[in-house]
Amino acid sequence: MTSSRTLLLHTGGTIGMAPSPEGLHPATGLVERALDRLEARGAVDLQRLDPLIDSANATPEDWNRLSAEIAAHHADYGSFVITHGTDTLAFTASALAMALEGLDKPVILTGAMVPLEQPGSDGERNLADALRIAGEAEPGVWIQFAGQLLRGPRARKVHSAAHDAFSGWPSERMPRRAGPRLIRHAFGRASIAVLPVAPGCAMQVIEHAMKVCDGIVLRCYGSGTVPNDPVLAGALQAAAARAIPVVAVSQTLEGGTTLGTYEAGAILLRHGVIDGRDMTLEAAYAKLALALATCPDLAAQRAFVEAPLCGEFGPTT
Ligand code: ASP
Repeated sequence: MTSSRTLLLHTGGTIGMAPSPEGLHPATGLVERALDRLEARGAVDLQRLDPLIDSANATPEDWNRLSAEIAAHHADYGSFVITHGTDTLAFTASALAMALEGLDKPVILTGAMVPLEQPGSDGERNLADALRIAGEAEPGVWIQFAGQLLRGPRARKVHSAAHDAFSGWPSERMPRRAGPRLIRHAFGRASIAVLPVAPGCAMQVIEHAMKVCDGIVLRCYGSGTVPNDPVLAGALQAAAARAIPVVAVSQTLEGGTTLGTYEAGAILLRHGVIDGRDMTLEAAYAKLALALATCPDLAAQRAFVEAPLCGEFGPTT
């Protein structure tokens, strides 16, 4: 019989931080004491990932460590809660939803904007909510924050100070990669650049990245326009010649890209840029990283990025 216990994976982040001369840094004991105050120890096992980190320092290797822990204990626990820094929490949520095919348990990520033991902290409320929701939510990767339950691959951090720091967008699919049994997919060490365009920006930077990186997320304007710049066109040509995937996402929070709408985006389609549609930048980045780790060539990487996987696209796509 499956246990109703929850495995809490504590990775670091503001929720468990304490002051230091150089600013807040991860400390041990805060989440543990919060569990005691919530009288949750009877139903929760805590595992601290070593070392605890500010999520600004997270890498795909950390996504691998988390997915490995969940896979190793998938059969032993009824649910998983991850306490995580908010800065890259949405990246981790997308990455886990994509990496854990056949996930059959709720995985709830949460954190805080103010450390647990500081006045006005939102940490205890978020932790209590996450533990409660873990017992009720459908299988999938979710973010519980400031009273909202959000789909992991459709959420973003949208505020750098308010308690209500995350927003989520709808999807017709559950935030999980369906499958008959659990298969864990690992991220590799691909070098991926995230490049925004801006009026008159130095296209040489984009040009260099397209010559040296394994994949690019290109943040375009609106529905997928970019400057009609010869250096950018040459860069896209170089990327196409090297057969590296370039995924377009939009600067806007809603609506996403529809490549081909404007002549000002024609160079993207002409050079085989992949339309990220309304994926968040976080989801597009994680998906491209997984495509590079698991697909043999550009055609397979394109098919992987374009196909719905785990509710990372909105309802109309
Ligand atoms: N810099 C912190 C982190 O991402 C911010 C937070 O947790 O709110 O770990």
